[in-house]
Amino acid sequence: MSKVTFTAIGGGAEIGANSYLITAEDHDVLLDCGIHPKKEGVEALPQLDLLKRSPEAVIVSHAHIDHCGAVPYLMRDHRTTECYATQPTVRIMDRMLHNSVSVMGTLAVERGIREYPLYSHSDVEYVIRRSYGLALEFALTWDSPFRASFHPSGHVLGSASVLLRAPGHTIFYSGDVCLTHQELMAGLRLIDPSEDVTTLIIESTRGTHEEGHAITFEGETERFAQEVSKVLEQGGVVLVPSFALGRTQELLNVIARLQESGYIPSVPVYASGLGRAVYEIYDKYSDYLRPDSTLRPLFEFNRIGDVWDPEVRHDLLKKPGVIVATSGMMVENTPSSMIASELVKYKKHGIFFVGYLDPDTLGYKLLHAKTGDQMPFELNGHPVTIKLENRQSFNFSAHAPREDLCKLIDHIAPKNVVFVHGDPEATAWMAENTNARYRKFIPSTGDPIDLEP
Ligand SMILES: [Zn+2]
Ligand SMILES: [Zn+2]
Repeated sequence: MSKVTFTAIGGGAEIGANSYLITAEDHDVLLDCGIHPKKEGVEALPQLDLLKRSPEAVIVSHAHIDHCGAVPYLMRDHRTTECYATQPTVRIMDRMLHNSVSVMGTLAVERGIREYPLYSHSDVEYVIRRSYGLALEFALTWDSPFRASFHPSGHVLGSASVLLRAPGHTIFYSGDVCLTHQELMAGLRLIDPSEDVTTLIIESTRGTHEEGHAITFEGETERFAQEVSKVLEQGGVVLVPSFALGRTQELLNVIARLQESGYIPSVPVYASGLGRAVYEIYDKYSDYLRPDSTLRPLFEFNRIGDVWDPEVRHDLLKKPGVIVATSGMMVENTPSSMIASELVKYKKHGIFFVGYLDPDTLGYKLLHAKTGDQMPFELNGHPVTIKLENRQSFNFSAHAPREDLCKLIDHIAPKNVVFVHGDPEATAWMAENTNARYRKFIPSTGDPIDLEP
């Protein structure tokens, strides 16, 4: 029986640069290696200097940047480390990571962040060449004590929980999970209790959301349909700021279904760049989606065009339409913020947020602004006066509510539970509200935890 140690090198009691080091028999495996969405430069990386040697593998749960964004940086310095992920995740990482290099390149110029880009396009190409797209149980290297397998986690295309076996100790890392069905993704596939999990590492994103279980996907869809219809019927445009991976593909198909069934008017629907690129991968791997879902062909959704051109923005708002555009939190200088900069000057439109908004983001500030307030939508741009009143938020979260997470813990019934990927209040709520029979841990970055069998 081997001694197993867990160390958060990022994303312990926070939603940050998620990366967890598992050590057994002098072998190291990293679960995820993400970039902190709110930090900049090398500050955004996990604390990779805590690694004493090259991990034999990094196993990536899914292609959101807070889980995979630092993999090229890691693998540039650790040339023997291999990357494992499901096939769709490798394909989506390819798009997301190259996009990150370009975004970092722009920020290097606009904000003078010297260390950007943290890695290059050729570092990303190296990762993709060295990545195994796997589905079933696999060994890591020939002399590794670890065996691993992926289990669909219901969050976004390709997302998986990871079952990692060391001699005498089985670890289940949830990754980001959703237990219930979304429009395209089926809910998490429960693992068999006979897997006998010793340690469960579980996300806690919604540990502070009280009303979580009361909001259903169908209920939110109905409310969304009513509010969208009101805007379109008065000749307005609805802007839906959305994450490129997951939200965009789900929402486009929700909107298409509502149009087909006559719940909302059949106006043109638009989708922005990176969301379209990821959509193509949803199309290629549609057998990973709910068997009863309908993935509409991408050509049904119009391109937005160059939103940095004032003429294009002006034309977009001439006739009723629905625009799904990145970024979801409306970071400055992205398609959603550029379109919003024009749209907020009029009363008849609507901006509907559909995911989590960090209080420091432009999206959060716009949602809570009063009419008449002024705010800039571009870095170093002129402030715009807000006339638009109809700014709302809908809960289409791809994360399980906290009550579901508690049920999942009891289903798996491990000896140890490690709460990660949540604000301090969220991980604390989770630890307080789960059964006392588990040994519970809230890790802080860099502090190793010995996991007893
Ligand atoms: Zn995620
Ligand atoms: Zn995440």
